[in-house]
Order: sequence, then C-alpha cells, then structure tokens
Amino acid sequence: MNKTAIIADRRYLKHSAGRVHPERPERVAVMIEMAQQIGRSDLKRYSPREATSDEVALCHLPDYMATVERSAGLERFDFDADTHSSADTWKTAMLAAGGVLTAAEAVADGEAHNAFAIVRPPGHHALPDRAMGFCFFNNVAIAAAWLTRVRGLRRVLIMDWDVHHGNGTQEIFYESPQVLYMSTHQFPLYPGTGWLDETGVGAGSGFTVNAPMPATCGDHEYLRVFDHLLMPIARQFNPEFVLISAGFDCHYRDPLGMMRVTEDGFVAMLRRLKRLAAECCGGKVVAALEGGYDLKALADSGRAVIEELGRDADEPLSPADDAERALPIIQRAKYFLAPYWKLD
Ligand SMILES: [Zn+2]
Repeated sequence: MNKTAIIADRRYLKHSAGRVHPERPERVAVMIEMAQQIGRSDLKRYSPREATSDEVALCHLPDYMATVERSAGLERFDFDADTHSSADTWKTAMLAAGGVLTAAEAVADGEAHNAFAIVRPPGHHALPDRAMGFCFFNNVAIAAAWLTRVRGLRRVLIMDWDVHHGNGTQEIFYESPQVLYMSTHQFPLYPGTGWLDETGVGAGSGFTVNAPMPATCGDHEYLRVFDHLLMPIARQFNPEFVLISAGFDCHYRDPLGMMRVTEDGFVAMLRRLKRLAAECCGGKVVAALEGGYDLKALADSGRAVIEELGRDADEPLSPADDAERALPIIQRAKYFLAPYWKLD
C-alpha cells in the first residue's frame, strides 16, 4: 500500500464566488466528508499552510497579487464576468496555493508516496496578471515552479484532465522546457484555447501538448489518447515529479461539461500516471482539485482517485477499446508534435 497524504481544511469553505455560483463551498465540504470516511490507515492527513508571497510570485506579477490582496475584507469584487471575490478570498487563495505546496513538500521529502490536495478556489485558468474562470492563483503551476526553481528539479509533468483547458498553466510555462504541460479538454468550450497547434515557443517548443476532444467523449476516448499520445510523450520526457490538475468536470454528471468520464475512467488515467511515475521518479504524484460542479460526481470521483493512490503501481491497466473518435485527435496531434517527440 502506498502512503497517501490528504490535504484538506474547512477554511477552504470561506471563499464565496457569489450567492448562486457553481464554484461553491459545498464542493470542498463533500470532498472533506468523503475523505473522512475513508478508513485507510496509510492516509496521512495534513492541514495546508499558506503560500508565501515569494512562492505565489513564482507565477504571478506583484501588481496583480496586490490587487487580490486589496480585495480582502471587501464583500465582493468582480475580477471578471464569472470570477468574484468575497472578504476571505485572498486568504483562501493563498491557502489553496499553499495546500498544493504542502502536498508537494510531503511527497518531495518522502513523508508520503503521493498526495491529494482538496483545495479551492481552483487555479488552472489564473494567468500571471489576472484572475479568470473562478481561479485567482494558479495552485498547480505554483507547485511546479516551486519544484523546479526552489527544489531544483529539471523536469515536472503537469497532467490536466479538467474538462476545461488550463490556459493559465499553459501560458505560465509556454516557454519552459522544464515543465511539460499536457491537457485533455472538451473543445470547443471555455476558455477557447488549447488547440493542437499550441505546442510551446522557444525553448519550450514541444513542451505543451493539447488533446482537444469533442463533447460526449468518455473513458475509452480518454484512455486511447493517453495510451497513444500522452503517455509515450511523458515517458520520453522522463519526469522527476508528476502533478495532476484533477478537475472532475469531465464526469458524465457534471453540469458545465459535456463529457462522459466515469469513476473508472479517472482510476484508469491515474493508474497510467502512477505507473509512469513509478518508472521515472519513485512514484511521486500529487493530484490537486480543480473544477467539478456536481457534488455526487466530486465525492465519488474523489474517493475513487484517493483509493487508487493507495494501490501499487503494477495493477493491470484496463485497455481502451477502439474508441474511433479518438483517432483523428491523436493523428492530428502527432502531426504537430512529431518535430519534438518520437511518435509511431
Ligand atoms: Zn473545469
């Protein structure tokens, strides 16, 4: 059994995105309740620490950080049409970035094999200089930057299976060969980025991999994309650490996404990433909550993922069936990525 760290805190309920808003405190409440019911003795439960300003500044500009801080205490501030803060948002966002850092620290230091960080507000749309798409600070990007720039790692993989493209994470590392950003997402869908030809620039060329997928794709299409596109590239990259932007809004119950991923699908994707991590970096995997707006889908998927984190990496992989709808995505992605990676 793997020792798994769970990072959770009821202070994550304090950020309110608005009176009627899908990114609501109950999302974390059901995840905490679910995690409390898991009786595994190998779960190590951590309270998150707040990120420091220096850590957040690894990915965000000082002026923008000051703007978020100035919103503290204000009942409401509108960052964009669907990203609103409340009095406690700034502190909660610092705690969300810190929660993923707490997880990364525990795994990097060998206190746990892997970890799941139950955090909000989410992060992957947050840009260096602006909040966007319910996100304020880019929690997973900050952890990746911390691993490379503070801990000195040279290769960190971010796998983002949230139904939305993580435009913020992509932009932050677009010129970096140290962070391989891979995303599966519904396309077209908010925020509109994440097409196949977005593969990075300069030294970062080839280190952004997008798999835009049509609505109603499910487990088999995702697994086929994993097996024939993402995992072969990830193996060549040979990561020293694997971060997962674990949004559960590609679940079939989700009201914002139109995908059909099931709990088994999340387990199968994670199992592939765990095996990769076991081969490349002693199994170091940290998953962090991003989106996911159906409470039952969140709790069920979160439980399935936390249970899978506890299993050994050599469990059998469930194969994808033919999933023909995945083929054009894989073939077209290969066309754009062939200059950088060996793809058969
Ligand atoms: Zn999302």
